[in-house]
Amino acid sequence: MPVSKPPAPADAPPQRAPGSGESAVQRALKKLGLVRDIDFALYLPLRYEDETRIVPLASTREGDTAQVEGVITECEVVYRPRRQLLATLEDGSDTVQLRFFNFYPSQQKQLAPGSRVRVRGEVKGGFGPPGRPKGQSAPLGGSGPRAAGERGGYLFGRTMMHPTVKAAGTPLPLALTPVYGTTAGLAQPVLRRAVQAGLARAPLDDIVPAHLMPPRAWGLREALSFLHYPAPDVALATLEDHSHPAWQRLKAEELLAQQLSQLQARRERAAQRAPILRAPDGAGSLHAQLLGVLPFTPTGAQRRADGEVAGDLARAQPMHRLLQGDVGSGKTLVAALAAARCIDAGFQCALMAPTEILASQHFGKLVGWLDPLLAERGLRVAWLTGSQKKRERDAMAAAVESGEAALVVGTHAVISEKVRFARLALAIVDEQHRFGVAQRLALRGKAEGALEPHLLMMSATPIPRTLAMSYYADLDVSTLDELPPGRTPVITRLVAEHRRDEVIERIQGQLAQGRQVYWVCPLIEESEAVDLRNATATRDELAEALGERVQVGLLHSRMPTAEKQAVMAEFTAGTLHVLVSTTVIEVGVDVPNASLMVIEHAERFGLSQLHQLRGRVGRGAAASACVLLYATGDSGRVGEAARARLKAMVETADGFEIARRDLEIRGPGEFLGARQSGAPLLRFADLATDGRLLDWARELAPRLLDGHPELARRHVDRWLGTRAEYLKA
Ligand code: ADP
Ligand code: MG
Repeated sequence: MPVSKPPAPADAPPQRAPGSGESAVQRALKKLGLVRDIDFALYLPLRYEDETRIVPLASTREGDTAQVEGVITECEVVYRPRRQLLATLEDGSDTVQLRFFNFYPSQQKQLAPGSRVRVRGEVKGGFGPPGRPKGQSAPLGGSGPRAAGERGGYLFGRTMMHPTVKAAGTPLPLALTPVYGTTAGLAQPVLRRAVQAGLARAPLDDIVPAHLMPPRAWGLREALSFLHYPAPDVALATLEDHSHPAWQRLKAEELLAQQLSQLQARRERAAQRAPILRAPDGAGSLHAQLLGVLPFTPTGAQRRADGEVAGDLARAQPMHRLLQGDVGSGKTLVAALAAARCIDAGFQCALMAPTEILASQHFGKLVGWLDPLLAERGLRVAWLTGSQKKRERDAMAAAVESGEAALVVGTHAVISEKVRFARLALAIVDEQHRFGVAQRLALRGKAEGALEPHLLMMSATPIPRTLAMSYYADLDVSTLDELPPGRTPVITRLVAEHRRDEVIERIQGQLAQGRQVYWVCPLIEESEAVDLRNATATRDELAEALGERVQVGLLHSRMPTAEKQAVMAEFTAGTLHVLVSTTVIEVGVDVPNASLMVIEHAERFGLSQLHQLRGRVGRGAAASACVLLYATGDSGRVGEAARARLKAMVETADGFEIARRDLEIRGPGEFLGARQSGAPLLRFADLATDGRLLDWARELAPRLLDGHPELARRHVDRWLGTRAEYLKA
């Protein structure tokens, strides 16, 4: 097994600046998450450079990254077409022109004619302009070659732009040189030394005994040393596709840590106590009455999920269930039924959504159903949001504390320290991925005494079943895999941006039938001010194009909540016909009369985001459409991933299929990352390809936890450190 030794550090590790608590370098390192030695050791290179060989210039080809060594024959600063340092290097086989637009006097000195240097960079040109024989360098000082050197015509023959330059003759490294992802203010060599030092210091003994690891697994230290400094003869493809045995070791360890910590969390939960929520299912129960007032019949999937929740609530262990279902699958009803069961048992239920608009939109209907039924029982619904006036909030908080508010609906305000529940037993979190772990933890602390509340999390961005089952060892999952009947599928069309006029016609067609339209502008993350300007311009443009009789409204994240709510109310009431919106969040509304959604710059949105947006139409019986406008020409190019996203949108409307494609396009790390704020991500393993390792980890985790709890603890600690706590939330 080839194991290369990392070269000895050339310099001392970065020093702390005198007098300051934390140096700029340390701050930059921290930004990359590099604090403990193990963090450094696990910070793998993005790619490698081969500095182990010196090649003759004559053997290099256009586009090669090559390391050559030779003598500088000429060096001068020229000023046309712009100031630059030009040097010529000769290695006996050919010459290469070195060009630097930014350079220091020290570099100029290093490149003084006569010096022997080693340079490394990408070779451009080498063929010269038409008419010159291949491989022969251009005559210098000819017909203005320096001025003509711009615009990619490499009149100088072989050229390297900004190559790295070292003194010639230093020993060649034995291993490939790692290149790490870095951040502003942190030079690659500094980062490289820091990683090297961390790697050397980190305790990397094999915690899990070798006989328990997958067969032929490398040792951890061996694997990491190799991944930072691979032997030059390694098949780079096996590092790139992570199939190399050294990678297998890392992935196995990571998956094991993830499974162990989830298993631990599950066992801890089994030891916790929650109120038993069991009430007679008689005709007089809130649950039964709610079913009675519904204007529709629950789907089979809703009934099944309700049953699964009921089973959990009737146990003395806290429920920890994820309810996932496509947009429009009717999760809110399942939440309402759960709340009713909780209230029937004499307890309080809290319902939270990430924004006020979502809270009122998602739960408005539910409250409408439950409020009259609660009133008959002398109970009520309390609203708690951040924008409430103090007096109102105090009154609500008092109702929560007295227990009169059986159902508490709102945003994060629900878990604010000041809110005390009389008998909280069930917490329901909508759009769970948008709540931080701290918030979920705070919720847990709101139950009575030593009891924990039951937790139901809802997510409209479904995770493919297999992934959910294996990744969330610690969650129970209910899936709404059936849409309520009577929905007409939404037709999705891709339209190039320059065909905007056709889209306007389409809007007019819908408006003429009394329908309503959403127009979504992309969020430009850097600047809300720019977003606002764009959206306002779009609103004005649409208002102009559609004529006076059409009311076009605008919704933007910068608007005060009250104003947002007023706009939403108008759109819901139908007095606004077209709603221009920038923020994806705020479109989480339910207006069945809206039949057309236009998404501008659709190529900039994520796939599940697009799918979520599309879910806002097709909620009524009318045929609905979603138009994805994509940029052409100057305003942007649609990249490969973006094209795959748009294609998926046209080809399928099934949220699970969308999730599967999203996973394929993005890879699970990012896929879960976008959904799981705070949960530890898999940095190395890839659930799409590492199913076998995952099976191994799932099988080993309980055995290790039972047989060697101390080893299990150390292993989790090494891999997840402080993040392990988060998993338990
Ligand atoms: P989501 O899963 O996206 O949160 P909602 O709970 O908002 O979906 O439900 C979407 C719409 O479907 C709502 O208008 C809701 O009242 C309606 N709905 C829910 N369940 C049914 C059902 N079984 N039959 C008909 N309509 C339903
Ligand atoms: Mg919902």
